[in-house]
Amino acid sequence: MMKITDISGKVKFSNQIEMPYFGLGVYKTENGDEVINSIHAALDNDYRLIDTASYYKNETGVGEAIKTANVNRSELFVTTKVWIDDMGFDATLRAFDKSLKNLNLDYIDMYLIHWPVPDLFLETWRAFEYLYQSGVVKAIGLSNCLQHHIEDLEKNFEVKPMLLQNEFHPRLVQQNLLDFCQEKDIVYQAWSPLMRGRLLDNELILNLADQYKKSPAQILLRWDLQKGVATIPKSVKAERIADNALIFDFELSSEDVKKIDSLDREERTGAHPDNFLEHFKNKK
Ligand code: NDP
Repeated sequence: MMKITDISGKVKFSNQIEMPYFGLGVYKTENGDEVINSIHAALDNDYRLIDTASYYKNETGVGEAIKTANVNRSELFVTTKVWIDDMGFDATLRAFDKSLKNLNLDYIDMYLIHWPVPDLFLETWRAFEYLYQSGVVKAIGLSNCLQHHIEDLEKNFEVKPMLLQNEFHPRLVQQNLLDFCQEKDIVYQAWSPLMRGRLLDNELILNLADQYKKSPAQILLRWDLQKGVATIPKSVKAERIADNALIFDFELSSEDVKKIDSLDREERTGAHPDNFLEHFKNKK
């Protein structure tokens, strides 16, 4: 289980590389000043992990923020992802080069397959293994996968995935998948930990916020960590970025963790890992 200390706390992957269990997400954060300012606000509040993707179209801003930060690159953990249009061995290598250039970095800490495109998933993973073995990424993982995706990969991989980044909040717990990942020594990381704001006025969460004298967002984010799940809330507002990180001065009782678990409804804000292609086709 994850040992929770303070914001500098980390989880260790199966390859012994460590990742901060708390960080900043930048989906829907605009490229340019918005992403630069939100990353600088996060770094000022001791965040050290930044989660982007080629799909977010803000990698150049993330790179600029890193270059102009007063924190060393070596202290930062940068995640980016390969998009569904760039799957397959060669396309993935090209997409990786582009991300590296956009980010203006010489290595990436974590590279993720953004969604498991059925026919190209294994070939894409082969490219990931190649990148990992050549040292330009320190760790590799998956996003938006279920147990069957990992089992499929397991039959074929040389390097196992170190991280699974999935939608995770009290309305979508997927406890069996969490347990499976723990057994396999795959770190689980929450996307949309605040359910994009939709859980902030939930009655139970509001009551707990009152009881613990914390904000609803802090209750949700603390619950992530106590579930053993790393988390990457997004905000572009300096005040919220600071507030979201103040979750290390209290602990939810195990009873309250269970109460929050009981909000589970298998409800998603994003696509389902088995039919996302439809979802993104309709978005175009
Ligand atoms: P979150 O659950 O983090 O919610 C973000 C929303 O909540 C924003 O609208 C933000 O608004 C608002 N918010 C943040 N903090 C507070 C607060 N303290 N009080 C009130 N409102 C608040 O959603 P995301 O979907 O952004 O998920 C987090 C990150 O996960 C993403 O940014 C991305 O990095 C990653 N992700 C990965 C996906 C994947 O497929 N792998 C898919 C989706 C996300 P404001 O900015 O105005 O403060």
